[in-house]
Amino acid sequence: MTVRVAINGFGTIGKRVADAVDAQDDMEIVGVTKTGPSFGCDLAVKKGFPLFCTFDSAERISAFSDAGYDCQGGLSDLLSIVDVVVDCSPGKMGAENLSKYRAAGVKYLFQGGEKHALTGRSFTSSANYSENLGAEGTRVVSCNTTGLSRTLVPLFDHCGELKVECTMIRRAADPGDSAKGPINAIKPVLKVPSHHGPDVMTVKPEIEINSLAVAVPTTIMHVHAIIADLPEGHGLSTESIIEMWKSTPRVIVMSGVENRITTTAEVMELARDIGRKWGDLHEIFVWQDGVSLQGNRLYYFQAIHQESDVIPENVDAIRALMNIESNWQTSVAKTDAAIDAYYGL
Ligand code: NAD
Repeated sequence: MTVRVAINGFGTIGKRVADAVDAQDDMEIVGVTKTGPSFGCDLAVKKGFPLFCTFDSAERISAFSDAGYDCQGGLSDLLSIVDVVVDCSPGKMGAENLSKYRAAGVKYLFQGGEKHALTGRSFTSSANYSENLGAEGTRVVSCNTTGLSRTLVPLFDHCGELKVECTMIRRAADPGDSAKGPINAIKPVLKVPSHHGPDVMTVKPEIEINSLAVAVPTTIMHVHAIIADLPEGHGLSTESIIEMWKSTPRVIVMSGVENRITTTAEVMELARDIGRKWGDLHEIFVWQDGVSLQGNRLYYFQAIHQESDVIPENVDAIRALMNIESNWQTSVAKTDAAIDAYYGL
């Protein structure tokens, strides 16, 4: 079976998910939507992804042909020929879109800009893949929550109990975004705790976690400063935790001092060397020399490439919804190998 996939919203996340789906042999891109003609349509044309309009209005559809693009129809036309839609619209548009997906009878996947309540389900590959098997729809949690889940879930699985406090040091805007800030200030998120930590509990409710967040003037990566209290008798050491993460899928552990990779700038340079399109880094980056277990209290830093860590997660979530692979590790390995092959890595 080849799963037929629509991407609704071919922006930062949508274009990346489209490539990652295109890389797989068990799913295919049947169409992507744009709200109107713009430079982003050229990428869809270049990739051979059929182009549809986000809306059904004849006027908006004909605006594409007026600008020289071959538009195959509106969202309803696209939904009528797919099994699952990946909603990559800007956050908070979910409720309106969800009613369209339900009316069309297709499965749906939302992103972290939507609330858990929209779908009543959330997803990360390592935390709760099996709970999403065959579901009607789910939400891939945000880049920050995905990052927290990647390193905390294996720790929780070892310890059976975990209490976490963390601070999200967030990039102000994506590189292609000229509308957000701050550009010369540090801006605390005055909703305390921030939503990031508690959002982990939508995929792993057993982890007790709270967070604070600040936005800083950078476009490359978020950094997390994490403190985790492990239960008595955990049997771990700083070294064994590092080894655990080294064998965890989609986590990279490197020494800041020895590898001369002490800031997010060098981490992103490493990502460009890896060679995925857009210089993406699907893995969570942990600084080995920033990990320290003192008694039962673990301290560590990690960096998140906000535009891309959720991308392989979306592919796994499609497999879970379509119930075509029951084992999360098998799906993760298949997703990642196919993406590597796609980019010739
Ligand atoms: P984006 O603004 O780059 O792209 C959104 C796309 O959706 C644009 O092409 C826009 O024209 C289109 N769109 C507008 N209205 C629409 C509608 N009603 N229906 C469908 N499409 C519509 O946004 P993004 O950064 O790709 O974010 C998409 C989702 O992914 C959000 O929920 C966001 O919170 C989440 N997310 C973003 C990042 C990130 O760093 N960019 C990381 C993880 C998750």
